[in-house]
Amino acid sequence: MTNIKENNYYKKVKISGWTKSKFVETNLTYPENINQIIEVLKFAKNQKKRIAIRGRGCSFGDQSYIKNEITCDLSKFNKIINFDSKSQLITVEAGISLIEIYKHILSKNFILESTPGGLQVSVGGAISNNIHGKDCFKNGYFNENVSSIKYLDSNLKIQEIKFNENNSNKLNNIFGGMGLYYLILEVTLQLKKKKSLVLQTHTKRVDNIDSMIKNFENLNTKEYDYAIGWIDCFSRDKKIGRGLFRTATFINKNDNHSILEKKISIRENKKKFLFLPQKITIWILSKIYCRFLFKLANSIIFSFSSLGLKKVNFIKFVWIDNNFIPNYPDIFIKEGLFTIQPFIPIKDANKNIKKILLICQKYKFEGILCPIKKYKKAKITNELHFSGDGYSIVLDIPINKNFNYQFKYFIDEISNFLFKINGKIYLTKDLHLDKKNFKKLFPNFIDFVNEKNISDNNNLFATDQYLRLMQK
Ligand SMILES: Cc1cc2nc3c(=O)[nH]c(=O)nc-3n(C[C@H](O)[C@H](O)[C@H](O)COP(=O)(O)OP(=O)(O)OC[C@H]3O[C@@H](n4cnc5c(N)ncnc54)[C@H](O)[C@@H]3O)c2cc1C
Repeated sequence: MTNIKENNYYKKVKISGWTKSKFVETNLTYPENINQIIEVLKFAKNQKKRIAIRGRGCSFGDQSYIKNEITCDLSKFNKIINFDSKSQLITVEAGISLIEIYKHILSKNFILESTPGGLQVSVGGAISNNIHGKDCFKNGYFNENVSSIKYLDSNLKIQEIKFNENNSNKLNNIFGGMGLYYLILEVTLQLKKKKSLVLQTHTKRVDNIDSMIKNFENLNTKEYDYAIGWIDCFSRDKKIGRGLFRTATFINKNDNHSILEKKISIRENKKKFLFLPQKITIWILSKIYCRFLFKLANSIIFSFSSLGLKKVNFIKFVWIDNNFIPNYPDIFIKEGLFTIQPFIPIKDANKNIKKILLICQKYKFEGILCPIKKYKKAKITNELHFSGDGYSIVLDIPINKNFNYQFKYFIDEISNFLFKINGKIYLTKDLHLDKKNFKKLFPNFIDFVNEKNISDNNNLFATDQYLRLMQK
């Protein structure tokens, strides 16, 4: 099935990013193979239109579409081309989701490292933001999984690049290129074999942000495979930044947890959200949510979460939102959800995270469920890549009338503070930053744009985010 017919390359539809906070009209097309992708690019060039490449649309804002021009959705370009369990290599089309890959590899105890909280993302999207997971402090970024990439440039030439140290400049443009340099076609991934897919987790309460950071700093990378914290953004004074700190380590097969392992499969949760049918929970929460409710929920999570040791299956651990709060932006669909993910460098991280939490409290814009992760420097990076020695927190803030009125002051204050401490934000989660604050947070962005102009010398690839932040 294809919607690419002669003289009918696309459909006009309204489209959004994952948080569904803004919809725009675009010309959407779903190519299913390389020839059709080339046809779409040829057509765009002839029509003098630009193309936004879209994987699974899991970037939160306007990074995966372009208003009134062509959005090339690769979700139907999603086949496994080759899987060799001996060499532990899998070659896939770039639109395949990590869920589909896991369906093929889990039974052989293979995993990918550096996978995000949302396994619905595509391999092309994972590379284009060079994403990370709860193992970033240890394993770095998605590039560590990749052995080679086939891609298409805007002159319609197919090229292949193998992962080695001598081609780092080219790699910097592919990993973290945000769909602005090339269209990624096929990827060969190097899988990691585990003795078991069961994790031994350990959860403890931490009384404030100082204690949280101390726990991260004391992490032994040999001992632990994953680490994630959760912060109660509503806690104040001496308890500011209190929360939960969780580590996880793959257990040895010798521990014989075969019963638990049998249950490890991967399925998108389309049914339950907080024990009720998803639609009902979302409908109820959309009617009753308010700041007080989230404050209460944070307090309950802090006080009543189960602590100590637990055996958890790998997929449940990495894909948390799918188990507990699937599609949670649907709760906020009427007013919208604002997300900002700041990066905080390691020096004085505790004090600086405290300051960010205080800014949120001053405006009453606390994040409703705020994870904290530790990062290390990326081997492959560019001026806009979200990486470095430090930490990030995720602030999901429901939009309301008060928000619209105060937003400008809030974003200015956060941006000024991040600028002062050499911080930045994760662009894949952004929808609202303006040019002034963007330039402050990414002072070398022009190098990224200059490189783009060389790689994409036809100026074919663009997204709404690119036009919003990087064009005059
Ligand atoms: C629930 C959830 C949890 C998340 N958790 C994390 C996390 O823990 N860590 C993290 O790093 N990220 C996380 N993310 C963000 C997500 O990993 C990134 O936004 C990712 O890039 C989305 O992939 P996608 O396939 O949906 O890409 P899209 O959103 O469709 O596109 C993202 C970018 O990739 C480009 N792109 C996509 N495919 C291609 C291609 N084939 N060739 C060239 N460019 C392409 C697009 O042009 C765009 O610039 C999360 C997202 C969700 C929804």
